[in-house]
Amino acid sequence: MKPLNPTFAGLGTTIFTVMSGLANQHGAINLGQGFPDTDGPLALRERAAQALIEGPNQYPPMMGVEALRQALAAHAKRFYDLIYDWRSEVVVTSGGTEALTASIMGLVNPGDEVILFEPAYDSYKPIVEAVGGVAKPIRLAAPNWTLTEQALADAFSPKTKAVLLNSPMNPAGKVFSTAELGLLATFLKRFDALAICDEVYEHLTFDGLKHTPLATLPGMYERCVRVGSAGKIFSLTGWKVGWVTGPAALTGAVSKAHQFITFTTPTALQIAVAHGLNNFEDYYLNLAKELEGNRDYLARELAAIGFVPLHAQGTYFLTTDISKLRFNGSDVDFCKHMTEHARVAAIPLSVFFTSDAPQTLVRFAFCKQRAVLEDAVRRLREHFKRN
Ligand code: PMP
Ligand code: GLN
Repeated sequence: MKPLNPTFAGLGTTIFTVMSGLANQHGAINLGQGFPDTDGPLALRERAAQALIEGPNQYPPMMGVEALRQALAAHAKRFYDLIYDWRSEVVVTSGGTEALTASIMGLVNPGDEVILFEPAYDSYKPIVEAVGGVAKPIRLAAPNWTLTEQALADAFSPKTKAVLLNSPMNPAGKVFSTAELGLLATFLKRFDALAICDEVYEHLTFDGLKHTPLATLPGMYERCVRVGSAGKIFSLTGWKVGWVTGPAALTGAVSKAHQFITFTTPTALQIAVAHGLNNFEDYYLNLAKELEGNRDYLARELAAIGFVPLHAQGTYFLTTDISKLRFNGSDVDFCKHMTEHARVAAIPLSVFFTSDAPQTLVRFAFCKQRAVLEDAVRRLREHFKRN
């Protein structure tokens, strides 16, 4: 057989699918893959059901259902005072995943360097490489994952086309500070580079922190495309409704990629998400408060067992250091062991690094009902007492 596409043929299955499979196999509580175990507002699901029955059920516009694009433009204005023309500067995609892929495909040329901040969400690097780009990791270090000027100076070059910035950041739970964003903005201007801003957790920040899109910093609007996801905002991760917002010069190219990746996204779900954005702000503002309580609970209980929790400023995820548990093996071995024997699944962080990955960091998802987290804590307490 002739060689298959080298970027994908050599890849393993994503860690999320692997760990969810293992969790099912062992009857484990799944604190691995990040998905809420309570569905978002019934009114949205009813709206989607009604739209499915009443239609339209044929192709929606390639850029997205008008009502959703209008709702997204209004949302960007309301929260961040960012102005996008819903006709040309908002592209609805099939999830944040497609939004990222279409952005990378639309903006990156073969040979371009794209800077990623590690630990980096797993879909970024393969897509950059598939289009012939070169991924340049900047490795951030636990516990604070601070971005320094030196790290930026080492990574940026005249070949830098874009950075992929994820804030709030999965899996680290980090929210980039205004000072860090300012530094990054300086380099983007100096090297005339773009930013693909993965903001899918924009409404899931804690401790009174507010999400600041890089696009709101001086001179950054023109350089940023912003990726969002209804899955995260409305706890409907299976709907796969996402979007890209940005100036027409950039979203135009992104939409050309989108038209040949999925072309469109199911109409009924778009209609329901528009309804949600216009009418259910309370839902996601309250969700952040509820998640913050879960974070505190899980951090406290895991610390009592011997994990060392790092501080999560946002997202669904709490990263912990497992060194004190003295497990003999890698973080991947640890997660497999814990799934099989304690029957609680988590995600090893090493998979989010390209080299010299730390082997002692493990991510727990806390977007679960409190009783489920309590059950997981009971299992972990029992297991680690015996070991
Ligand atoms: N980016 C990050 C950082 C994520 O955590 C996720 C989802 N889990 C995505 C993108 C993809 O979002 P979606 O599920 O809408 O495709
Ligand atoms: N983003 C989710 C997580 O980090 C998983 C999404 C997926 O399974 N691709 O857990």
